[in-house]
Amino acid sequence: MPLALVTGASRGIGRGIAIELGRLGWRVAVNYAGNAAAADDTVAAVTTAGGSAFPIQGDIGNAEDRAKLVQACLDDQGSIELLVNNAGIAPTVRADILDADEGSFDSLMEVNLKGPYFLTQLVAKAMLKQEQRGQIVTISSISTYAASVNRGDYCISKAGLGMLTKLFAARLADDGIRVYEIRPGVIATDMTGPVKEKYDTLIAQGLSPIKRWGTPEDIGRAVAAIARGDFPFSTGEVLNVDGGFHLHTL
Ligand code: NAP
Repeated sequence: MPLALVTGASRGIGRGIAIELGRLGWRVAVNYAGNAAAADDTVAAVTTAGGSAFPIQGDIGNAEDRAKLVQACLDDQGSIELLVNNAGIAPTVRADILDADEGSFDSLMEVNLKGPYFLTQLVAKAMLKQEQRGQIVTISSISTYAASVNRGDYCISKAGLGMLTKLFAARLADDGIRVYEIRPGVIATDMTGPVKEKYDTLIAQGLSPIKRWGTPEDIGRAVAAIARGDFPFSTGEVLNVDGGFHLHTL
């Protein structure tokens, strides 16, 4: 049974990804930061979907925890066929870039950018030792290119993930490891809960050509297509799963 390590899989988009991988019959390492009960719920949902799973606590911003995550996967299955860099945080306070402080910037960089960068490095090294090489998917955001002046730290961390994808895709192509980026649009999760009314209005006004909220399942299905190996001649590719938000219309 192939194994996927999905960071931040206890809730939201990560849970949606884990469930879709479960539908493919995969085994999923359900990483979470602190919410063990939610991780257990994801494990149960993956099992119901037809796969299997185990929870694994770990802060991806922490080097020791990243090593622990990878080792737990290797101890469990002996190999990692898919890494999904999904875990991420939003700023606690949205602050104008003229006022924003360094504390928020540092914590966002640690979790949203440094964590995935060095976790990808670790997993890639493990994959290089495997006969059956794996694939890597990073969940970035439309904030990779859309400027929100009240959360510059978040935007910069996500823009960095765009380069992470290109770098590892270029470095690992010759070794048979393909690397992808998924850019979700506005997705209904705990992260967007506090701004629900704002986005309800914007979506109704045509924020994206497809006028609805995205769901964790929308992202999960895109990851599942990659996991199935449906893009064998593509690497460094970006999938916009955003209801068409990225289109410039006239
Ligand atoms: P969410 O509902 O807030 O869930 C966040 C998940 O990440 C939880 O499972 C949480 O674990 C985990 N997590 C947080 N910090 C972590 C850390 N330091 N180490 C390990 N796990 C950690 O967020 P979401 O909306 O599903 O977002 C998932 C990803 O998609 C993020 O990278 C986000 O930036 C990106 N994204 C979201 C949207 C959107 O509209 N929702 C749009 C574009 C991109 P616990 O349950 O233990 O706290």
